[in-house]
Amino acid sequence: MQKFNQIQENINLKNYTTIKVGGISNYFAEPSNIEEFINLLKWAKSKNCQCLILGAGSNTLIKNINIKKLTICTRNMNKVKIEPKTGLIYAQSGVLLPKLSTLLAQNHFTGGEWTIGIPGTIGGAIYMNAGAGKYSISDNLKSVKVIDPDTLNTFVLSKNEINFEYRFSSFQLSQLIILEAKFYFWKKGNKEKILEKTKSIISQRKKQQPYHLPSCGSVFKNPISNYAGKLIEESGLKGVSIGGAEISTMHANFIVNKNSASSEDVFSLIILIQKKVLQKTGILLHPEVRMIGFDYP
Ligand SMILES: Cc1cc2nc3c(=O)[nH]c(=O)nc-3n(C[C@H](O)[C@H](O)[C@H](O)COP(=O)(O)OP(=O)(O)OC[C@H]3O[C@@H](n4cnc5c(N)ncnc54)[C@H](O)[C@@H]3O)c2cc1C
Repeated sequence: MQKFNQIQENINLKNYTTIKVGGISNYFAEPSNIEEFINLLKWAKSKNCQCLILGAGSNTLIKNINIKKLTICTRNMNKVKIEPKTGLIYAQSGVLLPKLSTLLAQNHFTGGEWTIGIPGTIGGAIYMNAGAGKYSISDNLKSVKVIDPDTLNTFVLSKNEINFEYRFSSFQLSQLIILEAKFYFWKKGNKEKILEKTKSIISQRKKQQPYHLPSCGSVFKNPISNYAGKLIEESGLKGVSIGGAEISTMHANFIVNKNSASSEDVFSLIILIQKKVLQKTGILLHPEVRMIGFDYP
């Protein structure tokens, strides 16, 4: 088996999450292609070591503990190819969504402008079924190439073999790892107009959401016919802080790392919000953020 000089030891994962909190991973690697990725899985299997997969870490809260796993960050698996005539896109799992947005605009395809504002990878976005407004990543998905870390079998799942709902994909109930995805964008538009739209989406977001501070995006999913941010704000929680973490004064569904917050600070705010909103409105908010190492009920 290949020598793994690419595996690092005792790496602080806070540098691999957008909220900048995290624990120490015993082993850590950033493969730059699928072959390297599979070899890492083989290594982990031979050592009986579990794997934690991270994309851009933009929807993940990692507890400040020792994580006895091999963390594999996909962000260097970032090759993407478009067929301008057919609108088919082949993207490795670590491709960032804003890169997808730019590629679509350059090739005059409309319908993917919304992805500009989401600082995650294709793999993380499919796992989360990320979206904005009426759009979500599953809309234009055709198929996903996955690997089962137990058997090391790779295979392709077509979109209709995956269950997608609001901020949910069946990957959340399985251990399959997303290696690549194929998308289909069919609607052509005017390049300048598409670029204008992406610019306006990003400037709108920067006005409404705290892009200038570390966060993990929306902490809670919106309940049916309601908005988590509105319920949190109405519960009087905007600006409330624990340690270095604060419920954003700009958008109440964001928790920002204002002053060297610990993962426990962020977690305590999540629990506080849930409790207060439930008391005030009778609605139980469900976290969108994926929590690792926490004893979340
Ligand atoms: C400022 C900001 C704005 C945001 N706005 C939005 C928004 O508008 N809409 C929205 O939906 N989200 C939003 N998010 C949240 C986040 O960007 C998305 O959920 C994103 O798709 C997560 O991708 P990621 O690569 O960062 O995933 P990570 O946080 O790295 O991982 C998320 C989960 O996916 C799993 N995972 C990651 N890659 C793979 C893979 N290859 N195979 C299997 N599992 C995998 C991880 O194990 C983890 O459980 C925002 C976040 C921030 C910080």
